[in-house]
Amino acid sequence: MATRDDLKNILNRIDGKGYKAYKDIEGSFDFGLFTLYIDHVQGDPFAASSRLRFHIPLSRTGFPASLFERRIKRIAFQDFIVRRFETVQRKLVKGYRGTGKSGLISIDSGKQEILERSAVSIDAQGVEVRFTVGLPAEGRRILGKEAIRVFFQEIPQIGEQCLLYQYYDPSEVRMHVEVAEDQETIQRQLEEKGLVAFVHDMSILPRRSGVDDRPLTHNVVPFYYPSELGVEMSVPNRGRIKGMGIPKGVTLIVGGGFHGKTTLLNAIERGIYPHIPGDGREYVVTLPSAVKIRAEDGRSIEKVDISPFINHLPQQKDTVRFSTENASGSTSQAANIIEALEMGAKLLLIDEDTSATNFMVRDERMQELVTKDKEPITPFVDKVKKLYSDLGVSTILVMGGSGDYFDVADTVIMMDNYQPLCVTHRAKEIALKHTSRRIDEGGASFGKVTPRQPLSQSFDASRGRREMKIDAKSMRTILYGSTAIDLSCLEQLVDPSQTRSIGLLIHYYREHYLDKTENLRRGLEKVMEDIYERGFDILIPYKVGNLAMPRIYELAGAINRMRTLKIK
Ligand code: ADP
Ligand code: MG
Repeated sequence: MATRDDLKNILNRIDGKGYKAYKDIEGSFDFGLFTLYIDHVQGDPFAASSRLRFHIPLSRTGFPASLFERRIKRIAFQDFIVRRFETVQRKLVKGYRGTGKSGLISIDSGKQEILERSAVSIDAQGVEVRFTVGLPAEGRRILGKEAIRVFFQEIPQIGEQCLLYQYYDPSEVRMHVEVAEDQETIQRQLEEKGLVAFVHDMSILPRRSGVDDRPLTHNVVPFYYPSELGVEMSVPNRGRIKGMGIPKGVTLIVGGGFHGKTTLLNAIERGIYPHIPGDGREYVVTLPSAVKIRAEDGRSIEKVDISPFINHLPQQKDTVRFSTENASGSTSQAANIIEALEMGAKLLLIDEDTSATNFMVRDERMQELVTKDKEPITPFVDKVKKLYSDLGVSTILVMGGSGDYFDVADTVIMMDNYQPLCVTHRAKEIALKHTSRRIDEGGASFGKVTPRQPLSQSFDASRGRREMKIDAKSMRTILYGSTAIDLSCLEQLVDPSQTRSIGLLIHYYREHYLDKTENLRRGLEKVMEDIYERGFDILIPYKVGNLAMPRIYELAGAINRMRTLKIK
């Protein structure tokens, strides 16, 4: 392996030369404390930054094994190291100098959620940290002196402060790891206790704004749990904690407009992930298979059996194998539910704000005017109970606008000035007092969920001369070959790096499992098992630091939204 002096010599030699000469620094260099790998050098100052890695044997770091002995702790500790790199980088790096991305050092760090990321990994061999550097240049002329500053001052200092435990605040890192471990433990206890979600007492649910997911700080009302729904959880790092347990079955969140219903549901949606300390939702925990459902008119649908909800469309359009290039509010919402069930979701989360009204309710008067034989849609209110009794799938539903749901709800929570009250009893009394004369149109059972198998021609990742070109244009858009996939309605996607992974996972599915598995669910489960066991590097031949773990539901969600999807 080359030494650090070798690197310095090269940089001195190429100072002032054309940018291409930077290629000479690709390789690995012994920096004493760590090995620095320069895996890929960018072609010009405006191209994607160069990819680098640190590697250090564990024994040199001083990191106590208690921080990474279990998988969840390791993920959280790795996440902490990424954030640490980001903090140190901000403090130490001079930053922009020259043209394009010159002088910028960056790492793919997350926001409020703790995710498994390819940026940092810990295994028996040691700790690896992947980051990018914009190699400095003025125009296309190499700024060797600035590069020397990057490689011999900034990178070694970042390395030292990220890789040596002596620079860490032990209580800060322990807290980060512990909240993730506790979250996972609560998630496992939900099932045993017959719950689908838990909201810890004193949680802070509202966010700063629609585009800022940090906790609201001014005039916040903390969450107090209603005693009727109080449950206790025992967690490894905090003993016994109390909060609101939402039982399996059908749960309704009601309350006046602007009283905090959506805020509560949003927190529950994100409860599938652990959160960083200080987020306010550290112990808001939801079943891992919870899926947010919404209307999404305009999406494409490919041979989904939406007949549990929709039948007898005009022109005898098939709803057992329903396909469209341009779904309506109600057909899209029906397909979103069936697709979630197809992948094994056990909890649906639905908000009236983002639902199709005609999918959710159909009252007595409308039933009389537009008779059943003229209405293709069976409203959700007539299916939600059967969803639970037939398939064991629970629903949490925000519904301030219709009392028809009182008849089918097992639990009713009312948000009143941001505080939850348990009003199940009262809602049932009212349902008895004003008996609804609407007719149940739901039939004897929910209906069936039919597995589907995609055809391999659905997935063409080629673009121009490239055999495989897949980009995440943003968190919400993947360009798969030349097919754009719109993920903006997958509300539980939280990180652009998850989106990048999803693009690559689709390709991996096609290459490795599509032909070997009987249906989409089985194939994607195999894909998720592989990445879970073998890590992100199975997805592409280069070592990249900008991938994060998505869920199988968002992966399937992306495939279902491909306009090129063809089902057998
Ligand atoms: P709803 O769905 O009942 O109409 P929202 O959940 O959208 O109401 O909340 C309305 C507003 O109140 C939002 O701006 C939200 O940030 C704020 N809010 C929600 N919960 C709290 C709380 N606990 N403390 C302070 N503000 C809150
Ligand atoms: Mg709302």
